[in-house]
Amino acid sequence: MSRISTGLASLALVTTALFGPLATGSAIAEDKPVVGIAMPTKSSARWIADGNNIVKTLQSRGYRTDLQYADDDVPNQVSQIENMVAKGDKVLVIAAIDGTTLSDTLHKAAQRGVKVIAYDRLIRNSPDVSNYATFDNFQVGVLQASSLVKALGLPDAKGPFNIELFGGSPDDNNAYFFFNGAMSVLKPYLDSGKLVIPSGQKTMDKVSTLRWDGATAQSRMDNLLSAYYTDRHLDAVLSPYDGISIGIISSLKGVGYGSGDTKMAYVSGQDCEIPSVKSILAGDQYSSIFKDTRKLAGVTADMVDAMLAGKTVPVNDTKSYNNGVKVVPAYLLTPVVVTKANIRPTLIDSGYYTASQIE
Ligand code: BGC
Repeated sequence: MSRISTGLASLALVTTALFGPLATGSAIAEDKPVVGIAMPTKSSARWIADGNNIVKTLQSRGYRTDLQYADDDVPNQVSQIENMVAKGDKVLVIAAIDGTTLSDTLHKAAQRGVKVIAYDRLIRNSPDVSNYATFDNFQVGVLQASSLVKALGLPDAKGPFNIELFGGSPDDNNAYFFFNGAMSVLKPYLDSGKLVIPSGQKTMDKVSTLRWDGATAQSRMDNLLSAYYTDRHLDAVLSPYDGISIGIISSLKGVGYGSGDTKMAYVSGQDCEIPSVKSILAGDQYSSIFKDTRKLAGVTADMVDAMLAGKTVPVNDTKSYNNGVKVVPAYLLTPVVVTKANIRPTLIDSGYYTASQIE
């Protein structure tokens, strides 16, 4: 070998040693298909974190990504997904706005061999959903209600305590799981009379909140307070999501809860969004539910890997999520309840937030 070619050979060796993994990574990136990611809205920090974490995780595994947000507008989401299919995306990760509206779109995707992962929210009425990556949604409701029960000192306290219930969006399958999980905890106390719902509104058709909208919840809370609480104290409110809790708490504060002699009602929540974590620290909101979107992104990426390699997709639940057409094999992660007492270990020590973000 000439000196020049020896030199080139060693340069190549050094380059491989230094950049080998990167060079391989970018070669894979060229070859690996595009994953389309359809998220519902940027109006909630939770979905921004989901989108960012999925992109980060998939890109670290060499995929290209196509992330779209639909402003909670169903036709907008449908056309975003149709575009993804038209562009040739091979796998779609979809957090549906309305879980019942995607059947035709997904049928077209299936005809082109595109695989679909329902992300966090079940996609209903479609045979074309391959898998579901989510948290144990029934358990979310159990934890929300259990936190209120504990705050009220039940089962020991005598009560009766007044409680009002709020549900999530009726077009989101999760909303029913949260509500049913919560009711499984509250029902014995409602039956025994230790908990009372002065409004009598206790089914999803009465308590749901379209599109999880905080302002809608706030005006329902205003109405409940003026109709049923002029001479009663409201002790607890089941709220399914932090954005709704913020609306409820504003309404309560508007009539003096949390100041003077009027104790703030215990209000649950979900997602540990920063304004609500601050509200918990301030003693306004009582609890929230932490769903680590980094882990959900990881599970989703594992599903993508397996699907594209023709391997068995990792799931741990094959019976809970019937979407009206079939039971969708799911991977359920564990939600964690958060109160003032465990904010630090759960949200900061885990690296999810920095202390300065929430304090
Ligand atoms: C999610 C919740 C979220 C809610 C509102 C649900 O589908 O599972 O985490 O609070 O949507 O965005």
